[in-house]
Amino acid sequence: VQHYLKNIETKAHLNAFVEVYEQSALEQADLIDQKLAKGNAGKLAGMVVGIKDLLCYTGHEANASSKILKGFESQFTTTAIQRLLDEDAIVIGRLNCDEFGMGSSNENSAHGKVLNAADESRVPGGSSGGSAVAVQANLCTTSLGTDTGGSVRQPAAFTGVIGMKPTYSRVSRWGLIAYASSFDCIGIFSHTVKDNALVMEIMAGHDEFDSTSSRKSVLPYSQLLHFDKKAKVAYLKETLESPALQPEIKANTLAILERLKSEGHSVDEVNFPLLDFILPTYYILTTAEASSNLSRFDGVKYGYRTPNAHNLESMYKLTRSEGFGEEVKRRIMLGTFVLSASYHDAYFTKAQKVRRLIKDFTENLLKDFDYIIMPTTPSTAFKFGEHSGNPVAMYLEDLFTVQASVSGVPAISLPNGKDEQGMPIGLQVICNSFKEAELYAFSNYLT
Ligand code: GLN
Repeated sequence: VQHYLKNIETKAHLNAFVEVYEQSALEQADLIDQKLAKGNAGKLAGMVVGIKDLLCYTGHEANASSKILKGFESQFTTTAIQRLLDEDAIVIGRLNCDEFGMGSSNENSAHGKVLNAADESRVPGGSSGGSAVAVQANLCTTSLGTDTGGSVRQPAAFTGVIGMKPTYSRVSRWGLIAYASSFDCIGIFSHTVKDNALVMEIMAGHDEFDSTSSRKSVLPYSQLLHFDKKAKVAYLKETLESPALQPEIKANTLAILERLKSEGHSVDEVNFPLLDFILPTYYILTTAEASSNLSRFDGVKYGYRTPNAHNLESMYKLTRSEGFGEEVKRRIMLGTFVLSASYHDAYFTKAQKVRRLIKDFTENLLKDFDYIIMPTTPSTAFKFGEHSGNPVAMYLEDLFTVQASVSGVPAISLPNGKDEQGMPIGLQVICNSFKEAELYAFSNYLT
């Protein structure tokens, strides 16, 4: 803990942490030392974990990096965090992110931007930028993020660490401040596959507080990392032919496919005619869900309330106008529009149907193949401000990550070399639902 506290202090300018729980982390460490001496410490004894500012932790503030939750203190602890604490993990602090998880660069945060430790003039990715940089810069051993459309995998790719999004419903969402409830997943950043698998096996599993959480049993992923099969791998032609794809990323992805072939695995090209529909589907459905989820922030129950109100209605309006940032407002408006009576069928209902097509296509493909491989992102980390004035260019950053989110299947981003500027490149591996053990074992083989 002292080692990490020192690193956090020397790297404070990266702005990854918004709050450090110095006192409680040191106290927890002392307690765990005593347990270790007695031989009754938990499976995560000594693991120092950072948590995204979208996860509730009793007695601590959670702001979702938004002004509207300023001063809000959690009344309960996220199930996933509680399970880590029960195994003697040490929670060292709260990590910066895009407001309510909306963004791909961590530039939309009331706590300010996070710097990429590989090049401080570049973004760390988003929305879990703080969680990615905390692991990248050795400010904690592992960190928790949330992934709705890529927010663990994309920043992992941009910072050169491992980022895992499990199957939807594998990890309880209880305590996660909702963005788009049918997509939201808690995910993990780490340097090694083993650490990631270990944290996942402890976090995952049914929770009575989240009725959507799966009752399927959880395997001891960290003990199943040995891989000695011949894998059947598919890559999607359209992803590698995308004009948005940076040449070095294409080259490094092809190099992995070649390596797999030379090691006796089968690698096949598959057509993916739905690629063009993935982003519109994702952004219609997530903005719709967000507009509904975020209606609870009205100045009455949580955090910020405007001091300028003159009646109840102006209190609601001014609190929301002053409390939410630009991107969040844009999404609430888009979501309200696609759910409105006259446009509901044209946008929301249609997008639900297309979601089903994408999910069926992906799941069927993963019956014929063990893994789908593609780049995690079309480009490496870009400069601050590069996409700020252009939300559509920003949304394009999620081109390769949203397929797994729309389909609910697990996906991991693994470091796969660097580009000419020295920026990390990510390789994404996708597996069928609840095949986390297979995904971790193959990742272990690849890294
Ligand atoms: N960048 C995507 C978005 O803004 C993904 C965010 C996420 O996964 N939380 O919606």
